[in-house]
Amino acid sequence: MQPQRLLYMNFTTTELTAQVAQTAREFALQHIKPHLMEWDESQEFPVAVFKEMGKLGLMGVLVPEEYGGSGLGYYEYNQIIQEVAKVCGSIGLSLAAHNSLCTGHILAFGSEAQKKKYLPKLANAEFIGAWGLTEANTGSDAGNMKTTAVKRAMNGLLMVPSPGSRMEKAVMWR
Ligand SMILES: Cc1cc2nc3c(=O)[nH]c(=O)nc-3n(C[C@H](O)[C@H](O)[C@H](O)COP(=O)(O)OP(=O)(O)OC[C@H]3O[C@@H](n4cnc5c(N)ncnc54)[C@H](O)[C@@H]3O)c2cc1C
Repeated sequence: MQPQRLLYMNFTTTELTAQVAQTAREFALQHIKPHLMEWDESQEFPVAVFKEMGKLGLMGVLVPEEYGGSGLGYYEYNQIIQEVAKVCGSIGLSLAAHNSLCTGHILAFGSEAQKKKYLPKLANAEFIGAWGLTEANTGSDAGNMKTTAVKRAMNGLLMVPSPGSRMEKAVMWR
């Protein structure tokens, strides 16, 4: 009988992972923490913070460098979201929605032309990205969505996705 081949996942983090985590932590402590309550009370979405995160490479973490992203892996991505979310869960969530729900779907399923058109501007935060799935009557039941994308708008019952009304580009589920 052949001995069974065991596959191991390598969970060792590298110096790069630690550096990336430190960059995200320092940014969050310096630029997010001092203003948290002010934004919370005024219900403000801090667009400038997202633009700054774009300059640091935090808005295109998984996007390959050829499309203007940071070209990092899931370990680094995970650390970035954790460090930002430790300071502000809402900003961490919107950062994850931008990187995964909007940018990630274009990366995984977009045409080459769509990748070239959208990924560089999402990665540098010229565009803040969102993902349009949930309607008042359809959450998990995405096949029943009524919303359609029309030029420069959305037409239907879509509930406002993270990051709210400040989104600049959205991937629509249809
Ligand atoms: C923090 C946060 C951020 C979000 N950001 C976004 C965003 O950026 N964009 C966006 O579009 N949406 C967003 N959402 C919404 C999210 O995608 C929906 O909440 C999700 O799709 C589930 O839909 P629902 O809440 O309507 O629950 P429902 O679909 O009503 O489900 C309710 C419950 O019923 C169960 N259920 C549903 N269908 C079945 C079935 N056929 N059989 C058995 N059980 C079933 C579900 O498992 C769940 O427990 C966000 C949600 C959260 C919590």
